[in-house]
Amino acid sequence: MLSDENYVLEESRKTVFSKSEDLKPIKSGQIRQNIIWKYVLHLLLFHVGFVFACSVYAFGLSAVRIKWLTVLWVPMYYFIGELGVAAGAHRLWSHRAYKANLGLRIALMLMYAAAGLYCIFHWVKDHRIHHKYSETDADPHNAKRGFFFSHIGWLMVERHPEYLRRQKELDLSDIIADPVVMFNRKYENELYIMFCFVIPTAVPVIFWGETLLHAILTQCFIRYVLILNAIWSVNSFAHLWGHRPYNRVINPAENSIVSLVACGEGSHNYHHTFPWDYKASEWPYMRFNVTTLCIDAFSKMMWAYDLREASPAFVQKVMEEIGDKYNESSLIHQDGYNPIDT
Ligand SMILES: [Zn+2]
Ligand SMILES: [Zn+2]
Repeated sequence: MLSDENYVLEESRKTVFSKSEDLKPIKSGQIRQNIIWKYVLHLLLFHVGFVFACSVYAFGLSAVRIKWLTVLWVPMYYFIGELGVAAGAHRLWSHRAYKANLGLRIALMLMYAAAGLYCIFHWVKDHRIHHKYSETDADPHNAKRGFFFSHIGWLMVERHPEYLRRQKELDLSDIIADPVVMFNRKYENELYIMFCFVIPTAVPVIFWGETLLHAILTQCFIRYVLILNAIWSVNSFAHLWGHRPYNRVINPAENSIVSLVACGEGSHNYHHTFPWDYKASEWPYMRFNVTTLCIDAFSKMMWAYDLREASPAFVQKVMEEIGDKYNESSLIHQDGYNPIDT
């Protein structure tokens, strides 16, 4: 813990007081990232389907009424996928913020598949590069290239040469050694089809007799597009808008709306400053941090263990040294109120 804390403070000082020449962004126009049209079409298809599905319900175009259980099933399955991403791919596999037994790792891997993203291995690789080279050309969704690029545009183009160079330097030995992650990589397409589309669509049809049309519209289009945009909002909204009480010079910010839609992942200024903290936020359950609540429950059941946290004294020290002192959170600390003690 101490070595983590010293390392973070040293790295944060570097971010604030110097900028590595090596990582200066290449000016646009110097490189060309070709558009990958099949990805553009894939994303377009689901977003057009989303608009169509919403129109069906907004204008009452369906002759058969949708069942209430089908409506409730949308946020339930959304939450399952979101937890797989936040507690699994993000806090467990990318940051090693806690450890999980085999049963929990399998459950999180399947829940991650429900979100319909690419495999965990590539998610972790992208996320570790994102943290190490934030807002540079090596960052796959560099927010300095604007909202559209950081939200969805980065998924439509070839990777930047700087990303391709830096990815070779990454140490991914820990996730390569995890058979659960490797299984997810090997059966990426099968898991995607089964857990993102077949299961969520089949459940309402089999268990409460919903029509296939309502099951497809609500799960394959509305739920899927909502969860994709919620996950992307961490890279776009939370890198562009919000306050920065922990590190005033980095882009990642505290954004409550992102926390709401992404189950507690919007405390992004804190997370980029203390990335090993399993809470991904200073306060365990504030700002809709349902993910932390679940990890704590897993820990009580002995499925999760070795939960890592930044100590309140260290958080305070970092805030005083590099945080933005003119915001709400800093003022709370200066008054001597420590939410962790309550
Ligand atoms: Zn992270
Ligand atoms: Zn970020």
